[in-house]
Amino acid sequence: MKSHVRVAVIGGGVIGCSTLYHLAHLGWTDTALFERSELTSGSTWHAAAGFGVLHDDTNMARLNYYTIECYRKLEAETGQSCGIHTTGSLYLAETEDRMDQLRIMEAKAKHLGFVFDFVAPGDLAKHHPLLDVSKLKGAWYQPDEGHLDPSGMTHAFAKGARQLGAEVHRFTKVLETNPRPDGSWEVVTDKGTVIAENLVNAAGLWAREVGKMAGLDLPLIPMEHMYFVTESIPEIEALEEELPSVSDRDAEYYMRQEGKGLLVGTYERDGKHWAVEGTPWDFGHELLPDDLERISENVERAIERTPVLGTTGIKSVINGPMVWSPDSSGLLGPVPGLSNYYAACGIMTGIGSGGGLGKSVAEWIVEGEPEWHLASLDVARFGDYFTKDFILARSKENYGTRFRMHFPQEQLSSGRPLRARESYNQQADQGAVFGVSFGWENPQYFALTEQERDPGYAYRRGKWFGPVGRECRALRETGGIIDTSPYAKYVVSGPVAERWLDGLVTNRLPQNMGRVTLCPMVNERGRLIADFTVTRLDRDRFFLVGSGSAVKFHQRLLQDAKPDDGVDFENLTDGWAGFSISGPRARDFMRDLAGCDVSPEAMPLLTGLETSFAGHRAMVLRVSFTGELGYEVYCPGKGYAEVYGALRAAAKRYGIAFCGTLAQDSLRLEKGYGSVFTEYTSDYTPYDAGLGRFVKLDKGPFTGRDALESMSAMAPSWRLCLFTVESDDADCIGSEPVWKDERIVGETTSGSYGFCVRKSLALAYIETPDADPGAGFEIPVLGRKRPAVLLDRPPYDPDGLKLRQ
Ligand SMILES: Cc1cc2nc3c(=O)[nH]c(=O)nc-3n(C[C@H](O)[C@H](O)[C@H](O)COP(=O)(O)OP(=O)(O)OC[C@H]3O[C@@H](n4cnc5c(N)ncnc54)[C@H](O)[C@@H]3O)c2cc1C
Repeated sequence: MKSHVRVAVIGGGVIGCSTLYHLAHLGWTDTALFERSELTSGSTWHAAAGFGVLHDDTNMARLNYYTIECYRKLEAETGQSCGIHTTGSLYLAETEDRMDQLRIMEAKAKHLGFVFDFVAPGDLAKHHPLLDVSKLKGAWYQPDEGHLDPSGMTHAFAKGARQLGAEVHRFTKVLETNPRPDGSWEVVTDKGTVIAENLVNAAGLWAREVGKMAGLDLPLIPMEHMYFVTESIPEIEALEEELPSVSDRDAEYYMRQEGKGLLVGTYERDGKHWAVEGTPWDFGHELLPDDLERISENVERAIERTPVLGTTGIKSVINGPMVWSPDSSGLLGPVPGLSNYYAACGIMTGIGSGGGLGKSVAEWIVEGEPEWHLASLDVARFGDYFTKDFILARSKENYGTRFRMHFPQEQLSSGRPLRARESYNQQADQGAVFGVSFGWENPQYFALTEQERDPGYAYRRGKWFGPVGRECRALRETGGIIDTSPYAKYVVSGPVAERWLDGLVTNRLPQNMGRVTLCPMVNERGRLIADFTVTRLDRDRFFLVGSGSAVKFHQRLLQDAKPDDGVDFENLTDGWAGFSISGPRARDFMRDLAGCDVSPEAMPLLTGLETSFAGHRAMVLRVSFTGELGYEVYCPGKGYAEVYGALRAAAKRYGIAFCGTLAQDSLRLEKGYGSVFTEYTSDYTPYDAGLGRFVKLDKGPFTGRDALESMSAMAPSWRLCLFTVESDDADCIGSEPVWKDERIVGETTSGSYGFCVRKSLALAYIETPDADPGAGFEIPVLGRKRPAVLLDRPPYDPDGLKLRQ
């Protein structure tokens, strides 16, 4: 065993081995993987081992597609069989909602270059003669999906890595991971100690325990997952070709051929946790006791659809543990607060995504970031606010609803409220229908009647549509208050604060006291990674506001990266609450409550100051994300109930409405404003996103400057464009392909109905040569192409006169 390596990977399941392999392919072979037992001694060995391509998140679909290609290449490269069976998959639809979902997938598949073809129920027998299609409305066929041998595939990754020089230490248990002052790690194993410049926690079922070795409390919990394999079935024995896999989500089971029988797996509604207090270290190649009774409802539905299951005996039952995070996506990437420590755990589709996940972790380590924007997997999407009860409740709800329909904007209910501000009870009193942002309860809209309380989320416009429209119109007609409490809020100060911040953002920091500037941040590749509203409070003191769900991403960029001396960093996000007020009467409202002169002369657009509001300490900014005359106000959370009471009273006096996040989203689209994590992601540059005016190449060095300079002379590859889409009952949800002359020329990032312009709107990145304003475009809504018009100016107040009043 070496005494020093560049990377130590803990865990020899599919994820650890894939990471080691991809590190080696990026040229990092001074690496070692430690596996406490034989390779694949966690969840990997007993997986049903199905792999699929399609995913709601476009980059996850790309990652899955890469995974399939990677497995094929791996076999050729190592000579180790991965036991790949490319059987194709059928996705069945019994309801209209499922049809909508699969049509949306079909459109996305075209964009990504995959086949996903509709099959009428009457034609299904050609693909799968054992299905009873009587209740089906339709199905889709994907030819590249299938299943493989998880053990063979994991060993192939290990072999491929070893061939390039990486070390794999089996039967070597990691006992301790101790941080060293230089940012490296002391990895203590039962066979000796290694110093690792970087550490990867790919310990799967034991990721919690391995995390604790570094003081981490990862929000993970194992759940039991069961599938069974039937005896041989004569009808299958008679077939020449293997049957395709079946994803029958309406009936809540999956199925594929195994040998000459069938394998059926379920996500039962009443899922069961396992090893809540910690995964036993002596758990090895074992299974958990069968409990077919627990999945009997799902099995009955499977029998109804595939009657032969009801007359065939069960050969074996596999009940194994798999790890879940609170939102059921994995935990990947550099862990905020720790140096050179990478998470690669919490993965519950390790077979289907293993290649792409290992590739992404390796890129994060070697290149500083993965090729694709992967916020939905990034460990930084979670804060430290989770309780054990929440993790238990949420994992159970996610497990039990894994195959149910999930709609855009829909909110899970378990474990809430987890974090609530002092204003929560008053907002509930006002009829707030809450969503969650970074754990915080945040109104999506306000219901004025009992009927409006049920949002009725669906792909088509639901019951929320009426109240949200009312809020949008009220805000533009008189004024509206939107809760911005979850926004990230920081004070950066100290003698070196200006120089340090200036080196991180692309724009010039505000030069004069009380001025505000918009400051994007990019990575070394010149891709967008954050966007802040920066106010200069003093010569050496700045107030930053950013996306609330990016707090932990910001920690990596700011808190963890700041110099030890000369910069103080204060995170006000949790401690402070806030709101935005915008619309024609916003200034009257502010005049009443703000402790400063809010006249246009004293407080023009893009100014801000420390003052008071309703008698409480406050930061007041003259900014607006709705396109109206507007302000944002931030106050300490303690005492905010009183501030909120004053808000309500003043709102009543001026006829100002309380609005939710759904209204905000519609209003921003009427102005064509982009948002972090939808438009502003590391897939695009500021030039693509139309933020080029916030890049000042002549201001001196800053992160990503070289990359941006090399781009500045050329036309950007993409252009962020606003479209109107002809649609009467649904709107774009993001990730729809944009067509022009029968070619796909771009992809939507978000969509909404514009209540005040009375049009369905979508933002989309379009390849620059095709981004000419006018008609001739088509964008699918619910999978069906609709005529779309590229606007050269936003449809609401195109000259921005209202904003500047
Ligand atoms: C019944 C079942 C069916 C499934 N079906 C599918 C499917 O069809 N498709 C799909 O994509 N996914 C499926 N999965 C999920 C899939 O198995 C997992 O996502 C995947 O195996 C996770 O791999 P991993 O490498 O993250 O973790 P693991 O496989 O758990 O590997 C972690 C490894 O780390 C080692 N380790 C832990 N601690 C230490 C330590 N201190 N020192 C050294 N080594 C250590 C362990 O021994 C283990 O080998 C299924 C899971 C189950 C339970």
